[in-house]
Amino acid sequence: MFDLRAILDDQSDDPLDLVAQYVNPSFARVLKILGYDVNYVRGSGAYLWDDQGNRYIDCISGFGVFACGRNHPTIRKALRQAMELDLPNLVKFGPPRLSGMLAQQLVKMAPGELDTVYFCNSGAEGIEAAIKYARAATGRARIVYCNKAYHGLTMGALSINGGDEFRERFGPLLAHCTPIPFNDLEALEQALSPGDVAGFIVEPIQGKGVHLPDDTFLPAAAELCHKHKTLFIADEVQTGYGRTGKMFACEHWDAAPDIMVTAKALSGGYVPVGAVLSKRWIHEAVFSSLDRCMVHSTTFGQNDLAMAAGLASLHVLLEEQLVQNAAAMGKRLLAKLKALVNRHEMLEEVRGKGLLIALEFAPPLSMKLKLGWSLLHKLDRGLFPQAVLIPLLRDHYVLAQVAGHHQDVIKLIPPLVLSEDDVDHITAALDATISACHKFGGPIWEVGKRLSGQALRGATEPAGV
Ligand code: PMP
Repeated sequence: MFDLRAILDDQSDDPLDLVAQYVNPSFARVLKILGYDVNYVRGSGAYLWDDQGNRYIDCISGFGVFACGRNHPTIRKALRQAMELDLPNLVKFGPPRLSGMLAQQLVKMAPGELDTVYFCNSGAEGIEAAIKYARAATGRARIVYCNKAYHGLTMGALSINGGDEFRERFGPLLAHCTPIPFNDLEALEQALSPGDVAGFIVEPIQGKGVHLPDDTFLPAAAELCHKHKTLFIADEVQTGYGRTGKMFACEHWDAAPDIMVTAKALSGGYVPVGAVLSKRWIHEAVFSSLDRCMVHSTTFGQNDLAMAAGLASLHVLLEEQLVQNAAAMGKRLLAKLKALVNRHEMLEEVRGKGLLIALEFAPPLSMKLKLGWSLLHKLDRGLFPQAVLIPLLRDHYVLAQVAGHHQDVIKLIPPLVLSEDDVDHITAALDATISACHKFGGPIWEVGKRLSGQALRGATEPAGV
């Protein structure tokens, strides 16, 4: 008899060894080098527990999927029910019931006039759909995107990825893709003016590095797009479903997209799902005749478990007022962290919106700190944040990540169920670890010693979001 619990109980292999041997040896090595090789055995809400019984506050949330917290009972119950109901899943040639219901709800809550939904299985897959929709609807080829953008790693999404580190050695990529600097309306107008641009794709807040738009950027960009008959495409894969303190981040700036790509949090952290919302005329231009009714589709799209997870996640977000909680806890966390800037020489800026927050570090002025700063930067350009992150995890049980390659930036994206106590603990933990980094012989030296001699390239910044 297959019994998952018994299999897990009997499992004697070290999980890290299995990853190293069969899944991703480099990743296993990175976890080991950084001390991220903790054996987590349980997750609930905003917390993880290791095999020693220690409780951690999770400020990564599976790269943002656990908006409702881990293992939310309502979402779990919905999934159990979906299985126990013997639903006629994936009939394919028959009308799927749950997907229509979820689409109806999404359309009701979407900003602007988005009135159709395409369901897929991930953020990148949603971006691929958006690129294809833009091309088919406009009859144009070019896609404009932003430097430092992250839209996923499939070939189309990679072609509009603003970070060279992800693109290296995978070329040639999609032709007709043009980058512009984020927040640069002049550059956008210049890129749009030849009249060959199908879509401008932008994250309302850039996830890599956590870069916020100027207040005028998004609405003016939408207007420019309309002027040049280019589709304005919002990538809300990370910012969507409450993360920034509004249901969708473009609502902060009243910028209504023509296409909006979402994923991550809609899954409840249980079943992968992506939802691409678009205006009806765009949808009709893609699926423009009966023989084109499946011209873009994917086998597992609209599967019942993903749709049930989506319906239950939306219910939890609304019922528990998690969007409001993200706004309130984000405000508290941001204010408390900003107060640390004056107290720590190397902490330059704290920025963010809702529960998408970054702490940026900068070179110190004092001689004794300069030594440590340059020691770590000489070892590896992305190493400094680890001097904060490693003790943050080991000594304070707060799990967080760097915000991107070669950046002195730490990013926090905790579940939206975070409490005031959690916020206070995260702040105190960061205060203590950043303080320690300002002391001679503190974590900077410890991390420098520990990692010197290791083959460091890439070890400091596991790719992700
Ligand atoms: N767009 C954004 C803004 C993202 O943050 C991500 C992933 N973090 C993606 C797209 C790609 O999503 P996925 O990893 O599900 O393919």
